[in-house]
Amino acid sequence: MKAIVVGGGIGGLAAAVSLRRTGWEVEVRERVAAFGEIGAGVGVMPNAMRALEWMGVDAEIRRLGTPRVSGGVRASGGRWLVHLPDVGQEKVIAMHRADLHGVLLRALPSSVLFNDAEVTRSDELDADLVVAADGIDSRLRAELFPDAPAPEYAGATAWRGVAPGPYDLPISQTLGPGGEAGILPLGDGRVCWYVACVAPARADLDPVALFADWHDPLPGLVSSTPDVIRHDIYQLPLLPAFVKGRVALLGDAAHAMTPYLGQGACMALEDAVTLAAVNGDLARYDALRRPRTQAVWKGSRMAGRFGIEMRSPIALALRNFAFRVLPPSLAIQGMTRFSTWEIPQVHSIGSNPAVN
Ligand SMILES: Cc1cc2nc3c(=O)[nH]c(=O)nc-3n(C[C@H](O)[C@H](O)[C@H](O)COP(=O)(O)OP(=O)(O)OC[C@H]3O[C@@H](n4cnc5c(N)ncnc54)[C@H](O)[C@@H]3O)c2cc1C
Repeated sequence: MKAIVVGGGIGGLAAAVSLRRTGWEVEVRERVAAFGEIGAGVGVMPNAMRALEWMGVDAEIRRLGTPRVSGGVRASGGRWLVHLPDVGQEKVIAMHRADLHGVLLRALPSSVLFNDAEVTRSDELDADLVVAADGIDSRLRAELFPDAPAPEYAGATAWRGVAPGPYDLPISQTLGPGGEAGILPLGDGRVCWYVACVAPARADLDPVALFADWHDPLPGLVSSTPDVIRHDIYQLPLLPAFVKGRVALLGDAAHAMTPYLGQGACMALEDAVTLAAVNGDLARYDALRRPRTQAVWKGSRMAGRFGIEMRSPIALALRNFAFRVLPPSLAIQGMTRFSTWEIPQVHSIGSNPAVN
């Protein structure tokens, strides 16, 4: 059985690795000239780690990433609203996105990887299964679901980067009026960070000025990073199906969400393993993935309402008070409740030692 994966981002490569582990012949077609990822961080949540373990790449992920067990939520002035000296089982592995992408890339033989290979229609492809992992602006989604609404602006813009450091910091999220920020320290002293604010799309804004009076080291991180990436944040309105005929949508092509729970790429990793587990039963893939990813999508939207979008001083004071008085595990439950996930035991995947 042959699968063609369209798109060589984290989702597409993870799908290729997973399908190969269940015996599929796989080809990955990527439109740009070289496989790669942008310079920013990703937090590999425990649910994503389960998927990576199943793919058999967890040792590499642990070698390149840094497990983070302490951290919390701060107000823009620096006060800790929730402080977790040790979050126990809820370890997040902090990684550079290029490292995660590179681990998946190295798990595939170069003979299955094709660059400069844009795919515009699924009916051009000779395969038993087509995986549309071509991102938020998916061409294949537009072909299969021409009436589906286009991605919509989520009302905020984000800047991301990797500051050279060295820094020794806990992992943290900072919530301020109309904005938020995150710090994800890598083990080698570099720090992945993001700052985001409510703004019209394509607004001409300077993040250094916008976050100048937020707590240290945020202003310094933003101003000392040589390559800052700007993304207006879009989300894909919920789709009625993730599959059509022999095509399965995966990752952002299926469920691009706001980044406030840090679960977008993690969901793509779950999708990939599930697609392999259902062994071509795409109705089952749809039944397993749509409810889960759409719940996370809604959870992320909600996290935005209680985070970046909150501006009224009274609402902010109430939210911050609630954070401070609730037991920490309850206070961050909205952020962590999707981080448990079990690999579906749909198909007998006897050849994979990670599952037995
Ligand atoms: C500001 C921000 C912060 C984020 N932070 C996190 C985080 O901390 N944790 C997390 O889990 N997620 C995070 N995400 C989400 C995460 O980045 C995405 O969910 C994830 O990268 C999606 O991967 P993908 O492979 O589905 O799509 P993409 O990464 O978009 O990959 C799609 C690939 O397909 C290729 N392609 C496109 N069209 C075609 C075509 N027609 N033919 C062939 N190839 C094609 C593209 O070149 C690209 O390589 C964040 C997103 C944003 C915007």
